[in-house]
Amino acid sequence: MRVLITGGAGFIGSHLCDLFIERGHEVIAMDNLITGKLENIAHLQGHPAFHFVRHDVTNPIYIEGPLDAVLHLASLPSPVDYLEMPIKTLKVGALGTYHALGLAKAKKARFLLASTSEVYGDPLVHPQPETYWGNVNPIGPRGVYDESKRFAEALTMAYHRTHGLATRIARIFNTYGPRMRLDDGRVVPNFVCQALRGEPLTVYDDGSRTRSFCYVSDLIEGLYRLLFSDEVYPVNLGNPHEMTILEFAQLVIRITQSNSGITFVTPKDERTKDDPQTRQPDITKARTILGWEPQVSLEEGLRRTIAWFREQLYPKK
Ligand code: NAD
Ligand code: UDP
Repeated sequence: MRVLITGGAGFIGSHLCDLFIERGHEVIAMDNLITGKLENIAHLQGHPAFHFVRHDVTNPIYIEGPLDAVLHLASLPSPVDYLEMPIKTLKVGALGTYHALGLAKAKKARFLLASTSEVYGDPLVHPQPETYWGNVNPIGPRGVYDESKRFAEALTMAYHRTHGLATRIARIFNTYGPRMRLDDGRVVPNFVCQALRGEPLTVYDDGSRTRSFCYVSDLIEGLYRLLFSDEVYPVNLGNPHEMTILEFAQLVIRITQSNSGITFVTPKDERTKDDPQTRQPDITKARTILGWEPQVSLEEGLRRTIAWFREQLYPKK
């Protein structure tokens, strides 16, 4: 297959490029590098089946030659990023998805949307099955991300229904691993860097909110299987192992063997407004139709992630 991966220089996108190359496909990674990094794909540069195109997908996308699949990951998913760049976030979710779908239609390619558990907002149903419609505040600070992805899902279904496009929608839950930006503000890089530097871990509010963390190698396998499946309706991909953020901070301290303490802080900006209180994927559908479930335990995934972050912070000469 010849595939286009938007957001291909980002965290998940670059791992997905690796997987497609490993499995013998040709990959065009497209990214405007707003948060992505060329370092993430440096090891692929020069590979005959890999190409990088620097392009902002909020502008129309032109690719020469055939394409068998478009995987649309370009987005600004870190709460810190979308609070700083709300209009860019809405544009990449809306215009970017529109252009990526238009390209898939022109090339008669399959299309996969990287959607998110944020479409469930601050959920009133727990764990979250795909049939739940969500509880999103459209005008709150997180609305720019949540609604951009909800619009993207609606547009994807419209292309399927109107043009018969072979579309897939992955609702991705919190995913972590090597190549996350050290300063992207999400909880995994924050806690791991703080623990490795011996600084207190910044638990927001009282740390009672919950999340469920999926290691990136599991996630990309799920995306790969979903692309090759026939499922048009959304599929949750994530790890159902749920814990409070306070428990997660304690786990990071234990695994890093850090002397760091924990500090409870209330951020002055709006990053915790409408912050979901709980989040856990119901992955029955992925188990049933993709034969997929996470294989990497949180401890193992964290060990690998911590080793990578350690090398970034304190490179061996
Ligand atoms: P990331 O920020 O590392 O990657 C996103 C990439 O998109 C970056 O490389 C960025 O430069 C690129 N990008 C942004 N705007 C662009 C534009 N206009 N044109 C071209 N490129 C653009 O984030 P990630 O964690 O790898 O997320 C990848 C996808 O998975 C996103 O669609 C995100 O919404 C989804 N997702 C991620 C998670 C998670 O926990 N990591 C959870 C749910 C959904
Ligand atoms: N969080 C925290 N301290 C941090 C960063 C995040 O307590 O330094 C919390 C945040 O309020 C949220 C959870 O950790 O409840 C996960 O946040 P993240 O930004 O990773 O992603 P989200 O799941 O909210 O999209």
